[in-house]
Amino acid sequence: MTDFIDLNGAEQSFGDTDAQREVRQNDRDYVFHSWSAQAQINPLPVAKGEGVRFWDYDGKEYLDFSSQLVNLNLGHQHPGLVKAIQDQAGRMATIQPAMANDVRGELAKRVVEHSFEGARSVFFTNGGADANEYAVRMARHHTGRQKVLARYRSYHGSTATAITLTGEPRRWANGTPDAGVVHFFGPYPYRSEFYAETPEQETERALQHLEHTIQLEGPNTIAAIILESVTGTNGILVPTPGYLEGVRELCDRHGIVMICDEVMAGFGRTGEWFAFQAFGVTPDLVTFAKGVNSGYVPLGGVVISEAIHNTFADRSFPGGLTYSGHPLGAAAGVATFDIFEEEQILERVRDLGERVVEPRLRELAEKHPSIGEVRGKGLFWALELVLDRETRDPLVPFNAAGEAAAPFNAVVAACKNAGLWPFAAGNRLQIAPPLIISEEDLVTGLDIIDEAL
Ligand code: PLP
Repeated sequence: MTDFIDLNGAEQSFGDTDAQREVRQNDRDYVFHSWSAQAQINPLPVAKGEGVRFWDYDGKEYLDFSSQLVNLNLGHQHPGLVKAIQDQAGRMATIQPAMANDVRGELAKRVVEHSFEGARSVFFTNGGADANEYAVRMARHHTGRQKVLARYRSYHGSTATAITLTGEPRRWANGTPDAGVVHFFGPYPYRSEFYAETPEQETERALQHLEHTIQLEGPNTIAAIILESVTGTNGILVPTPGYLEGVRELCDRHGIVMICDEVMAGFGRTGEWFAFQAFGVTPDLVTFAKGVNSGYVPLGGVVISEAIHNTFADRSFPGGLTYSGHPLGAAAGVATFDIFEEEQILERVRDLGERVVEPRLRELAEKHPSIGEVRGKGLFWALELVLDRETRDPLVPFNAAGEAAAPFNAVVAACKNAGLWPFAAGNRLQIAPPLIISEEDLVTGLDIIDEAL
């Protein structure tokens, strides 16, 4: 029986230790891994993926509750995406960005139509970090100002400006390559920086803090405020009521460009095309990547408002990328829009989130004292784990000495042993399965988490 196809196109069976050894050896010998000490890594060799599952070479099956870095919104090997890429490769595999091509134009049109009122065009990038780099560059040229305000507890990517925008420890060792970035706190009611007692109070005080930051930095020096519409890796922080609207109002008042980073939250993850749409705000720039084509071909972009587009109507935009709007990525992006409509993905995400995930997670919180808070939207949820509900001390993966701390890792290991690949981040078990997941698989995964806790 064929379990998977190897690099040479040969049919293989699980348990083929030669194939596994070769994959592991080449990786160990030649691949330099991100965010890791090279001597310590031991990545899982993956033989194949299909739908919401993937398999290692021994045939161990994993239910993917991480969507591979919250990326694979339509699951592994979706036939519609695979076909679109194959067809495009057969028609025209690549063409340089200064020339027009049909799929890039079609994808830009669909993105504009599904984003915000007043959206005018799309600049395509290779992924999320460079989308944020370019959004900031556009805002700077548009306003003639240099500073950019970004939130703590955010991830915006790993290139120079993007890592500086990032408001969490991954920035520390990388310094601040972009001197114009200033950080501020956003709402986080469970660990309020503002001593707020209600979500409404959190909104009011977070907006006051932002207003003070703007005043102290100088409103006329600030080009943009960038924020994840729903914070992803740093905790699935859904904005408190009125917060995004308040940020919009401050941006309007001070002539600041509002950039929504939708790299993780966009393309259906929260049950909307883009997460900001649930809050009735109109950004000036929106960055996206990942879900635009489920990461089948690297692709990201910036959706640009009419006003910013017009800044560059008669003046050249100083920037570009060889692979901007790559036809293979764009073809998969167009197919993504078709599949979302055919399979009613947004409706499914809302339904499964409200009817299956949220009630079950709230039930788990009743049962397991290690759950401090449950929060999320659509198929984008976090269980914030704590040592003690009273003190809210986080159940972190590492202790103060940097040693792996047993309880959190034990939960993650128990999930993996039981065949669930979770999205573990900080002291949170985050839940972000492919959006095509069936109710049955969703329940299976939640049962495993219950058991692991
Ligand atoms: N912005 C957000 C919100 C992200 O979650 C990520 C990646 O996880 C990025 C930007 C960076 O995207 P990329 O890794 O494609 O550069």
